[in-house]
Amino acid sequence: MTATATRVLVLNSGSSSVKYQLLDMNPDSAGGPAAGTRLAVGLVERIGEDTSRLAHTPLATGGDKRETEGPIADHEAALKAVAAELSADGLGLDSPQLAAIGHRVVHGGLKFTAPTVIDDAVLAEIERLVPVAPLHNPANITGIRTARALRPDLPQVAVFDTAFHTTMPEYAARYAIDVATADAHRIRRYGFHGTSHAYVSRKTAELLGKDPSEVNVIVLHLGNGASASAVAGGRCVDTSMGLTPLEGLVMGTRSGDIDPAVTFHLKRVAGMSEDDVDVLLNKKSGLVGLCGDNDMREIRRRIDEGDERAELAFDIYIHRLKKYIGAYTAVLGRVDAVAFTAGVGENAAPVRAAALAGLEEMGLAVDADLNAVRSGEPRLISPEYARVAAAVVPTDEELEIAQQTYALVSA
Ligand code: ADP
Repeated sequence: MTATATRVLVLNSGSSSVKYQLLDMNPDSAGGPAAGTRLAVGLVERIGEDTSRLAHTPLATGGDKRETEGPIADHEAALKAVAAELSADGLGLDSPQLAAIGHRVVHGGLKFTAPTVIDDAVLAEIERLVPVAPLHNPANITGIRTARALRPDLPQVAVFDTAFHTTMPEYAARYAIDVATADAHRIRRYGFHGTSHAYVSRKTAELLGKDPSEVNVIVLHLGNGASASAVAGGRCVDTSMGLTPLEGLVMGTRSGDIDPAVTFHLKRVAGMSEDDVDVLLNKKSGLVGLCGDNDMREIRRRIDEGDERAELAFDIYIHRLKKYIGAYTAVLGRVDAVAFTAGVGENAAPVRAAALAGLEEMGLAVDADLNAVRSGEPRLISPEYARVAAAVVPTDEELEIAQQTYALVSA
């Protein structure tokens, strides 16, 4: 890496998509762009179909979003197309200013507790985790392989969704099942969205003017996938997702917590296969299963029109959220802040108001005017008298991945 190499390409490879951002992590505040400046962002969707689509926005040049449609056969072709778009603006993968590529990797098991420079052994270990993350790790691996083939000399860093949660104590991470069976199959609670929980809990401490080691925070990451975490002094002590991202809160299309006997029942009584149940709980449940919509804007609109199904779905979603706020208050003992983040958490004021309604005895309250403010900045929504701060803290997983990646390769 040269002294001028300050850029990081962040890649988030899904099964049929690649999201990417090129950021400048320039530590030199005296010259060049501020650390974290986005130079380009984009998305390749529907990889492997005839209608693949690449949308690229070259922020560095202030250019307009460029969209191209047409077949992109696989991740290799997708990454090559991304590289070509970046090159068109002089930001190509061959640039000497590129310091590293940071990959979001969903499952790091117990082994990866921090961002890790990828070599063959690391890649083999990520592959070994495929049985516990069959939906996510294979796509991440393909992204890594492709990026390494394009720039074999460049450091590639894996940033794991599970890493932040590896500090959970054993009593929070273990399921109460036969230990030998659990250990043989690596069954335990790993948690996900860790990059977001890490970033948001740190930013919340900053908003309170405190060091992360001094504050206890409940982070509610409410996107299409949703998870809660209890963070004590900067360390995660519990989180709502488990072996897979299915456990915990009610989500856009996932059930969250459910009696596991429901699955046997569906197989025995409804004649459903394993795959049927998997699809039901992961794709046809949550808000979409309850009312047919998973977009909170649409659900609120339907409630405003008096739609009872939408209202019940909302109430179930809020009830579960409240239960986790209560549980994590007990786990933490003292809570300094509850932070809302991600698509729903950052934008849906009614969700925030309903989730904290009636929790005054726990020191929580929402100021209606502050809650109605729309802004991309971290902000408080609680009145001054509230013992526990309530906050909206926009997440930025790409920035966090870029920061962790750059810190590792520039050390
Ligand atoms: P993902 O888990 O896909 O990253 P996001 O964090 O982007 O999800 O959240 C997407 C969800 O955020 C949408 O499904 C929608 O429910 C919600 N959302 C986005 N914008 C708004 C808004 N203005 N008001 C209410 N909800 C919103």
